[in-house]
Amino acid sequence: MTGAADDGGGRPADVAVIGAGVVGTAIARALACQDVSCVLIDAANDVGTGTSKANTAILHTGFDAVPGSLESRLLRRGSALLADYARRAGIPVERTGALLVAWTPEQQAELPAVEDKAHRNGVTDVRRIGTSELYRREPHLGAGALGALEIPGERIICPWTTPLAYATQALAAGARLRLRSRVTGIRAGAAEHQVVTGTGAVRCRWVVNAAGLHSDTIDAMMGGGEFTICPRRGELIVFDKLARPLLSSILLPVPTARTKGVLVAPTVYGNVLLGPTAEDIPDRGDVATTGPGLASLIEAGRRILPGLVAEEVTASYAGLRAATADRDYQIWVDASRRYACVAGIRSTGLSASLGIAEYVTGLLADAGLALADRPEPDPPVMPYIGQAGTRPYQDAARIAADPEHGRIVCHCERVTRGEIRDALASPLPPADLDGLRRRTRVLNGRCQGFYCAAAVAALFAGAGPGPAGQPPAHEPATAGSPRRAPRGWRFAVHR
Ligand SMILES: Cc1cc2nc3c(=O)[nH]c(=O)nc-3n(C[C@H](O)[C@H](O)[C@H](O)COP(=O)(O)OP(=O)(O)OC[C@H]3O[C@@H](n4cnc5c(N)ncnc54)[C@H](O)[C@@H]3O)c2cc1C
Repeated sequence: MTGAADDGGGRPADVAVIGAGVVGTAIARALACQDVSCVLIDAANDVGTGTSKANTAILHTGFDAVPGSLESRLLRRGSALLADYARRAGIPVERTGALLVAWTPEQQAELPAVEDKAHRNGVTDVRRIGTSELYRREPHLGAGALGALEIPGERIICPWTTPLAYATQALAAGARLRLRSRVTGIRAGAAEHQVVTGTGAVRCRWVVNAAGLHSDTIDAMMGGGEFTICPRRGELIVFDKLARPLLSSILLPVPTARTKGVLVAPTVYGNVLLGPTAEDIPDRGDVATTGPGLASLIEAGRRILPGLVAEEVTASYAGLRAATADRDYQIWVDASRRYACVAGIRSTGLSASLGIAEYVTGLLADAGLALADRPEPDPPVMPYIGQAGTRPYQDAARIAADPEHGRIVCHCERVTRGEIRDALASPLPPADLDGLRRRTRVLNGRCQGFYCAAAVAALFAGAGPGPAGQPPAHEPATAGSPRRAPRGWRFAVHR
């Protein structure tokens, strides 16, 4: 690449968004849909590979946020926006509701305060329930619960499809995606900034810092340095689908000032999650699970849902919360530097993402960024990978029209050749098998790829036969494919 990249027309892009997690993709989507020329930059080879892929996957109502905080406001707004967006975009969501269970007299005494807090956060449909109703609704709950608070609006959501939908829509609206491009410096200028990456510099007028665990580093590059990210690791255990009948709702503990605590929740893929832990660690890349962490979860799970710990474990993983000394979100726009900082999005960023994007877009407009102010376009319709709805292998009409949807490759998760082919040919194709997993659920089941990995890898590598006389159907049509051009600019394929 010669010189610094621009908006494609010789001018600097209006905005460079650094970080393609659920927050950065939501912001890029909001800006691109308002005719702002936007470049989305990430160090990784795909969108949504940071904290956004490894969380508890709950679409929070915000009932337990700090009333009056920015997090409370954006969480409430974002949660409503995302529930609607998900319905239209085909992002798997289930309104399971949650039960916040008190196990000790002290926790029981806390319930009225939590209920009051929920009301102050605008979540008014919560209610206290007694033990007989609690055990009627959750008969497998461990003995000794003293009561609960019901939060009917809590939902479970697919954390993988969400940033993919935002990015897909941003690309369709004209944003550009620059992956494998770690930002190493920013040359801030009076007229434009140059964002220096491992694949060359990007010229832009405004910088939006949505770099998650590294947002303090980017902030320092912009002359800030007012906060430090302290990673807080959360480990989780995924139980087999046979455990799913053990619970109906999300089972929450009474939260403390430091953490929401260990919960048990269904997933939209039909599994059960137990976690997360909360441990401050120095290493921003340490997403390993640990013996003590997993043991503490099993101990907690044994009390909450004793039958759970007898079930098979499918997987375990850890994610890192981007905590700061300040509990609230760190979001501000500095018009003089043409800079937006969107940091400290610790444990609610998935739920709040659309609220955050709306807020940041508004701040940028107030600071002088011109927006088209046009109605929001319809979201893309994403491949549905949830368990509650109809998947391609269950859809006789779809199989009749396209037999590849009747050919299952991953038997644990019932993923078909048609779904893999479509993911590989999508506007934002996966760069590796993990990306394919997040788009289709392939390799994600109880065998963790033991039986299907070779077949999936062959399809990914292009070994699958295409229609006679044509390249394999999943072979991307452009030279911008992540497998063919692993570095530099990548554009959505506008077909
Ligand atoms: C254990 C756990 C459970 C959680 N549970 C929930 C939940 O149930 N519901 C909920 O709403 N939220 C939950 N969260 C919080 C949620 O996951 C986060 O708030 C959200 O994912 C943050 O998104 P992000 O885009 O800010 O960060 P990330 O997803 O980490 O994205 C940041 C991106 O910036 C990129 N980047 C960093 N530095 C650079 C650089 N120098 N150059 C280029 N790119 C860079 C990274 O590669 C990354 O892709 C949980 C978090 C954890 C850890």
